[in-house]
Amino acid sequence: MRIDIISIFPEYFAPLEISLLGKARRAGILDTRVHDLRGWTHDRHNTVDDTPYGGGPGMVMKPGPWGEALDAVAPAPAAPRLVVPTPSGRPFTQSTAAELASEPWLLFACGRYEGIDSRVMAEARGRMPVDEVSLGDFVLAGGEVAVLVMIEAISRLLPGVLGNAASVSDDSFAPGAMESLLEGPVYTKPPVWRDRAVPEVLLSGNHGAIARWRRDEALRRTARHRPELLERLDPAALDARDREV
Ligand code: SAM
Repeated sequence: MRIDIISIFPEYFAPLEISLLGKARRAGILDTRVHDLRGWTHDRHNTVDDTPYGGGPGMVMKPGPWGEALDAVAPAPAAPRLVVPTPSGRPFTQSTAAELASEPWLLFACGRYEGIDSRVMAEARGRMPVDEVSLGDFVLAGGEVAVLVMIEAISRLLPGVLGNAASVSDDSFAPGAMESLLEGPVYTKPPVWRDRAVPEVLLSGNHGAIARWRRDEALRRTARHRPELLERLDPAALDARDREV
C-alpha cells in the first residue's frame, strides 16, 4: 500500500520507522512518503495560514499551498483516497480501518490551527474520493497524531504485517463474533503473581470452556464500559448463555 502524508511537521512521522510499521516498510508492504506542506509556499516566511473570513479566533490553513501540494503528490488523473482528519468528520472505527486497508493508495492531509480552508476538500472531491474522519469527540492540536493512529490501525490489517494474522480476528471490534464487543482480560505466565491467580479455566486445556469464558468476559466488559455497543449485537446470534451474562 502506498501512503502519502502532507504536514507542516514531517518530523512527527519518525515513528513510521519503528516496530510493526517500520518492519512493514522494510518488507515493502508499506510505501510511506512524508511531504512538507511548506515546500508549496512562495513567500519568505513559508506562510501556510491566514485569518478566518467572518472573524473569530485562530488561523485557517490557506488553500493555495494545499492545492499545489495535492496536485504535486497526486497529479491528475491519479486518484488516491484522500483522508482528512477532523473532529467534524465521520467517526473512524475498526470498520473504517478495514475499508481503508483495502485501498491501494491513501493520501493523508494533516490540518493545524482551525483546520484547512474548506474549498480544498471541495475541489479535491472533483477528482478523488475524500474522507473526512474523526478520531473521537475531543480536539487535538493537529492532524499528525490522528494520522499516525489511523496508519497503525490500517497497517496491522494488511496481509503480512502481523506475525500472527489470526490475532486480528480476536480483537475488540473485529468483524464477526467480536464486531460489537470489547475483548476481555488477558493473562500470561506465571500462573500466580503477587497472590493473584490466572482464572482456572484458562489453564484447563478445555478449548470449549475457554471460548465460553472469553465470550462471557467480553460481554461483561462491554456491558460495563460500552453498554451502547450491546444494542448492536444481532439478537439472532445470541445464545441463552449470552443473555444470562
Ligand atoms: N476548529 C476545529 C474544530 O473545532 O473542529 C479544530 C481544529 S484542531 C485544533 C486542528 C487539527 O487537528 C484539525 O484540523 C485536525 O486535523 C486535527 N484534529 C483535531 N481533533 C481531531 C479529532 N478528534 N480527530 C481527527 N483529527 C483531529
